[in-house]
Amino acid sequence: MSSQKDGIIVILSSPSGAGKTSLVKLLSKKNNFIISISHTTRKPRSNEIDGNDYFFVTNSEFEKLINDKKFLEHAKVFNNLYGTSKKSVLDSLNSGKNVIFDIDWQGTKQIKSQNIQYKIITFFVLPPSKKILFERLSNRDMKDKLIASERMKDFYKDVKHWVDYDFVVINDDLDKCYSEISKIVDSFRFSKIQNIKYDKKIISQHVEKLIN
Ligand code: 5GP
Repeated sequence: MSSQKDGIIVILSSPSGAGKTSLVKLLSKKNNFIISISHTTRKPRSNEIDGNDYFFVTNSEFEKLINDKKFLEHAKVFNNLYGTSKKSVLDSLNSGKNVIFDIDWQGTKQIKSQNIQYKIITFFVLPPSKKILFERLSNRDMKDKLIASERMKDFYKDVKHWVDYDFVVINDDLDKCYSEISKIVDSFRFSKIQNIKYDKKIISQHVEKLIN
C-alpha cells in the first residue's frame, strides 16, 4: 500500500499529435508535480534539449540500461527505443512528489502490471479530428512529410488502446482539457473518487469517426 506521504503516478498516453505534450507541461506546473524524463534513442528535434525533454542516448547505451535493469518500463515506438528510469521516478514518489508520465500504451501496460505500491491514474488523450491530427503531425519539425503519414498509420493502431485507460479526454481546447484532467487528478490524489467514470459511448463514437 502507498503511504499518504507518497506521490502519485499520473500517466498520459495518446497517439502522436493529440497535443499530449502541452497537457503534460501544464500539469507539471501544478504544485508538487514533476515530469518523468525518459531516455530515448530517437534523435533530438531542433527545439529539444538533452536532459530536459529526454535523455538522448545511443542504442548501445540504451541496451546497457536494459541489461542493468535500470528501467521501470521500456518500449519500442516508431522504430526508436524509449524507457523510464526506475530510480529517479521512485525517489521522487518516495519524497512525496507526484510524477507525470508521457509514455505510450505499452509502457502503461508494463507499469500497471507490476502492482507497484503507488497510486496510479491513467489518461488517454484523443485529437478532436483526423484533419487536425494530420495538421499537427505535418507541422512538426520533421525532415519529411512521409513521417507524418507513417505516424498516421500508427495512429490507427494506437488509438484502439483507449479502452485500457481510467479516463479518456478529447483535446479540442487545451485549457479546457487541462482543467478537466487537473480536477480529476486532484480528486484522485485526495481519494475523493474510487471509480472514475466517463462517457464511454461518446468516446467510442469519436474514435469511430477518427478511424473511418
Ligand atoms: P516522441 O518521439 O514524439 O517524443 O514520442 C513518441 C511516443 O513515445 C509518444 O507516444 C510518447 O508518449 C512515447 N514515449 C516517450 N517516452 C516514453 C517512455 O519512456 N516509455 C514509453 N513506453 N513510451 C514513451
